[in-house]
Amino acid sequence: MTTIRHHLDDATLVSYTSGALTNSMALVVACHLSVCGECRKRCGEMEVLGGEMLERLQPVDLSDAALQNLLDALDGEEASEPTPKAPSPPPADVPAPLWPYIDKPLDELAWKSLAPGFAYVDLPCQGTGASKLLRIAPGKSVLPHTHTGNELTMVLRGSFVDEVGRFASGDIADIDDAIEHQPLVDSPETCICLIATDGPLRFTSLLGRIVQPLTGF
Ligand SMILES: [Zn+2]
Repeated sequence: MTTIRHHLDDATLVSYTSGALTNSMALVVACHLSVCGECRKRCGEMEVLGGEMLERLQPVDLSDAALQNLLDALDGEEASEPTPKAPSPPPADVPAPLWPYIDKPLDELAWKSLAPGFAYVDLPCQGTGASKLLRIAPGKSVLPHTHTGNELTMVLRGSFVDEVGRFASGDIADIDDAIEHQPLVDSPETCICLIATDGPLRFTSLLGRIVQPLTGF
């Protein structure tokens, strides 16, 4: 794993710790947290801060029985979480939280061709927004686009450059609707990214608007 240079922004981490992100966005956050100690530390600090704020907002004395009921309910929630499908450890370029969704090494997935040099795999995330793996050949560029919501992109393999900077394995591009960007793959190997959006992309070129219905973003 190379040094991580691009991290989650504060707004995204606050949304994640408060459970306000869509499942598809939360998956990308969890994948980045699994490889980034710096963001894990910030996330932990926010959870502590959130807990302290809750304590101040709710100065209620719980009886022993009420407390036990609450703890039982929390235990029940944990027990009802889905167990990961894949018992084997993930390959080095697949973050652990992504592994139950794909269950196969990246090269063995059923990639769907989008255009020469572009392929994708849909991920089965519930709820609004979309979550995909995108595979782009060296030297290829995604069409320029802006967003109607937020877009989270984590690089799993290879690298790309855009107006913000250069993004390599483990890096996260945390982009809101103010930014228009055109990522270009600058690595000699194919670039594979995990991408989630909570609103449709707004392509700024005619070709982009034609392709958009095909990509589902
Ligand atoms: Zn980070």
